[in-house]
Amino acid sequence: MSDEPRVYPPDTGWKDLAPGGIVPQAGNAECYSVAGWRLVHPVRDNEACIDCLFCWLYCPDSAILQEGGSVKGKPIDMVHCKGCGVCAAVCPKECIKMVPESEAAEQGQTG
Ligand code: SF4
Ligand code: SF4
Repeated sequence: MSDEPRVYPPDTGWKDLAPGGIVPQAGNAECYSVAGWRLVHPVRDNEACIDCLFCWLYCPDSAILQEGGSVKGKPIDMVHCKGCGVCAAVCPKECIKMVPESEAAEQGQTG
């Protein structure tokens, strides 16, 4: 399949269009940064975290990093975090806060 985008003349019928919603290469999301999509930034309180791993399990972008069954003190992959807030919503201890990007940058939480 060609990587070149197709350009259709304006009178093209819908049956002549290529089907949409196709992922031509599976598993390539890790090659792309979604950091620019983010308006809010997850900040975890490591003291309050009980390492239940819900955030790691539910993050749709595998941006919560864990090692040896623990997320405490581990960075969040801010290249692949899009700021959806799922991690904060599922946390039973409410120890992940979504803060505005500008505030996170002021706190030195960049990435
Ligand atoms: S905000 Fe969304 S993408 Fe970012 S770490 Fe939380 S669940 Fe994952
Ligand atoms: S969901 Fe909350 S308590 Fe559970 S591991 Fe994540 S930050 Fe810690």
